[in-house]
Amino acid sequence: TNSSSSSTRNHADKFLDGLIPSGFNKGSCLSRYQSYLYRKVSPYKPSPYLISKLRNYEDLHRRCGPHTRAYKRTMVHLNSFKSNVTTIGSCKYIVWTPANGLGNRIVSIAATFLYAILTDRVLLVKFQDDMVGLFCEPFLNSSWLLPNAKEFPFSTDDNGKKDFETYDIVMKRDRENNSKELLLPSVMHLKIEHTDDEHEMFFSCDHSQHLLHKVPILILRSDQYFVPSLFMGPSFGQELRKMFPNKETVFHHLGRYLFFPSNDVWGPIKRFYQAYLAKADEKIGIQVRVFYPNISSHQTITKQILTCAQKNKILPNFAAKDSKESPRKNQTLKSVLVASLYREYGENLRTMYLNKPSVTGEIIGVYQPSHEEHQKFGDNLQNKKALTEMYLLSLCDVLVTSSLSTFGYVAQSLGGIKPWVLYKLQDNNLPDSPCVQDVSMEPCYHIPPKLDCMEKPIDDDVGKAFPYMRRCVDYNLGVKLV
Ligand code: GDP
Repeated sequence: TNSSSSSTRNHADKFLDGLIPSGFNKGSCLSRYQSYLYRKVSPYKPSPYLISKLRNYEDLHRRCGPHTRAYKRTMVHLNSFKSNVTTIGSCKYIVWTPANGLGNRIVSIAATFLYAILTDRVLLVKFQDDMVGLFCEPFLNSSWLLPNAKEFPFSTDDNGKKDFETYDIVMKRDRENNSKELLLPSVMHLKIEHTDDEHEMFFSCDHSQHLLHKVPILILRSDQYFVPSLFMGPSFGQELRKMFPNKETVFHHLGRYLFFPSNDVWGPIKRFYQAYLAKADEKIGIQVRVFYPNISSHQTITKQILTCAQKNKILPNFAAKDSKESPRKNQTLKSVLVASLYREYGENLRTMYLNKPSVTGEIIGVYQPSHEEHQKFGDNLQNKKALTEMYLLSLCDVLVTSSLSTFGYVAQSLGGIKPWVLYKLQDNNLPDSPCVQDVSMEPCYHIPPKLDCMEKPIDDDVGKAFPYMRRCVDYNLGVKLV
């Protein structure tokens, strides 16, 4: 019957087409089973294979995660044997440690999680005070938080210790060793962030993965969405294609699986949505990230945003004067959510649409949840506001985002939206074209390898060698999945 098919539909929506398992305690994470009420049903379905990989991962995490017997046993063992402990039980770990702002952290956690799934490692995250209480626990009946120093007796910081084994050091030793059997550490530190170092390019190639495979604990410092590099190497290609027949959906699925806002953050999201967005016929999110405030003025950037939005029919043009006719009953309402550190953007747009009528007669409401003025490091409250706004943006129908901003990447891929990307301005002048629609909703990987696994330079036209990859429209050194 109709009602039963609509209730199965609702059931599927609630569990995001099988992405999230049932069985979580509802009260401790309201967003997990409520967010579907606020978001349009995603046209992108997770593959059955991805779902089975997630369920298997959850089993592994439950078995090897913090506070389990297997976990304790492994840590004691590794602490007493510092190298070549390849024979111990089946629990291996990757510890994610933070770098940079919240958007960077979210995209890099997602990439690390995918790597953990591909390599049968347990993902542990090091959240310091500034990230406490942002997200719900993602794995049923377990925790992803890195335990304290007593339970995790290895340093996670690069503090100049002598016995600090890094990926670069080990790779160097390996090259010098001429493929003789190598002494591998039980804990290895790895960085995937913006650096001049070129060794990392071989990270996803077979030989590196073969060595890394034997190291029980990897400690990763990354601010990058390095997923495209996993697709580039031969090690994981086949598995990834099975998990993601549609390559553009990697973050869309993993992000919606991992990042449920805690009750503390969900409350404001829900209330803001209900107060300012729910009734709109169309919800438009505009994310304005200004990396170099001295290069272009707020005024110029406001003009860029408006030109982009009006040219592409996201927002209506202004009419010369008000219409003589009396207002129609059901005028279209468009709500614009502005996210920016600066109050000027919301204010300017709001004032313009209040002072001038629109040619279409549409009513435009403009709302900006916060204006923090500066990026603050180590600030829990700012992170909560940032997550609130990324999430609210992801609930919109159309997005206008800023070049190079991971804050925008998170919003677009959670929401399943190909955003209109504002070009980065070079000076205080407007370019001919203010923005372009992105080729996919995936985040951009800013520092992809320059060489492939055969050590051949990768072409500027990256799609030649990797058909499901393109250069990013906002940064032509970067690559993204399409
Ligand atoms: P990216 O630097 O644009 O790639 O984004 P990140 O999220 O990594 O770093 C920017 C940080 O600055 C955010 O995490 C916030 O703390 C702050 N921030 C930047 N833009 C906004 C904004 O629109 N709203 C809020 N609330 N915070 C912002």
